[in-house]
Amino acid sequence: MSTITVYTARKIITMNPMQESATHVAVRDGRVLSVGTLADVQAWGAFTLDERFADKVLMPGLVEGHCHLKEGSMWDWTYLGWFDRRDPQGKVWAGLRSMDAVVGRLSEVAAQMAADGVPDDEPLIAWGFDPIYFGGERMTVAHVDCASTTRPIVIGHANGHLMNVNTPMLAIAEVTRDNEVEGVVKFAEGPMAGEPTGELQEPAAMYLVLRKIGTAGLLAPMTQAGVRAFARLACTQGVTTATDLVNKLGEADCAVLENVTADDDFAVRILPAFQAFHGPYGAPQGADHVKALMTRNSDRLRYGLVKMMLDGSIQGFSARLRWPGHFNGAPNGIWVTAPAQYETDFETYHRAGLIVHTHTNGDEASEVAINAIERVLTQAPRPDHRHTLQHGQMIDAPLFQRMAALGLCANLFANHLWYWGDQHYEMTMGPDRANRLDACGSALAAGVPLAIHSDAPVTPLGPLFTAWCAVNRITPKGRVLGENEKITVAQALSAVTLGAAWTLKLDHEIGSIECGKRADFCVLEDDPFTMDPATLKDARVWGTVLSGRVFPANPG
Ligand SMILES: [Zn+2]
Repeated sequence: MSTITVYTARKIITMNPMQESATHVAVRDGRVLSVGTLADVQAWGAFTLDERFADKVLMPGLVEGHCHLKEGSMWDWTYLGWFDRRDPQGKVWAGLRSMDAVVGRLSEVAAQMAADGVPDDEPLIAWGFDPIYFGGERMTVAHVDCASTTRPIVIGHANGHLMNVNTPMLAIAEVTRDNEVEGVVKFAEGPMAGEPTGELQEPAAMYLVLRKIGTAGLLAPMTQAGVRAFARLACTQGVTTATDLVNKLGEADCAVLENVTADDDFAVRILPAFQAFHGPYGAPQGADHVKALMTRNSDRLRYGLVKMMLDGSIQGFSARLRWPGHFNGAPNGIWVTAPAQYETDFETYHRAGLIVHTHTNGDEASEVAINAIERVLTQAPRPDHRHTLQHGQMIDAPLFQRMAALGLCANLFANHLWYWGDQHYEMTMGPDRANRLDACGSALAAGVPLAIHSDAPVTPLGPLFTAWCAVNRITPKGRVLGENEKITVAQALSAVTLGAAWTLKLDHEIGSIECGKRADFCVLEDDPFTMDPATLKDARVWGTVLSGRVFPANPG
């Protein structure tokens, strides 16, 4: 006989437009049985009243439609980012505000590794490096060799699309002036002209290094500890459903995911997306693989998403842009997947009935995706497909109109407005086009289903911060990018609940608090609708409820 628990709260924000708020919610078998007043919910029979949330605000568990589980394990390596950042244990790492500071931290870590007796051939791995903040100065082997000329050093950029290494790592990777792989950057002039600078752009070039450092690098296999750390972080941010938006889904990966999510104390529902590019399979085998995995789905683990990728990153100057290109004159970016290949593979996954999430940063990449998807849908219509463009940072109103006509969803990278908004204004897009960066207002005006995201670990996981970005569109230098692209608090909170759930085709299960859905709640100390929208990011999270199980952010 299943029991009913009734939670009372200061306010329940349901995100259900048919019943916007309530004071009580009844939960049975991990699902919402009833929402309303005490009188409404007690009509369902005997219950236990739980008053622990009596002074809190409940809203639907937050849904992060584009992040990566690596957010939990990046902290095994050295953080080099420009912004201060909190690790899963709560320690705040100071941001590094100059190239010298970056080299300084690398030198300290290299010295510590030597003092600890770590073998000289074990690489020093670092992440979060963001040279665009250093006035366009590019890092080369001349910088990284200052930290060590013996131990290989590998530095991942914040955008995940670029890497820098030192001379020992170039030697191990056998990258020389004769290497013709696209993305191996070489000195244009000076005494080193023609030699590799140590910068490697996009997967093909980065693979030259990653294949040599094997398990000890940025592509290290998932670990149970890393995934558990991610879940702790998710709980502190009110997140109950999260994607892992690129995963090879090999047997070892799946074993980790299935082991960890089998534990009732695991606090987040995971949707891993199959990496349908640069993998060992052709698209037909990839589609069969995903469909076979879907038979192993559980409440906390949902296979079925497919991730494709067209271009690179805007702030890394590797995105594909339409005319007039980069504001600072940098050449156009890189196709990670050739457009013709993309269309062929997309069609295969689409015909297999799977949901495809496509990375398109620049507007040329978004247009290529829309053109390809339009042709595929004309040949093979499929109602309610939920295919989604991810990032879509420079999509304009005409492209949003075409997306709406095709039933395409947008998951826009709203955190960029804060983290790189000034760089887009000054360097990549210019003062005019920067106004349409992550144009949430235009997307909603066109009727495109909208989600917004962090792409953690590219920026920190935190949907309320992401919502704050979309509402305020403010940059660290105080600029407002595109006043008319701002969305309301209600629209932004919808984007991180029902909107994201829609792009994952889970809106029938999660995203709002209403009868029949999973009892997934984000438990808040503050009411986001009564606070000043300029402070939305500061709304305090008490913890979460996932399918009826309560997870405090601070169990101690
Ligand atoms: Zn991503």
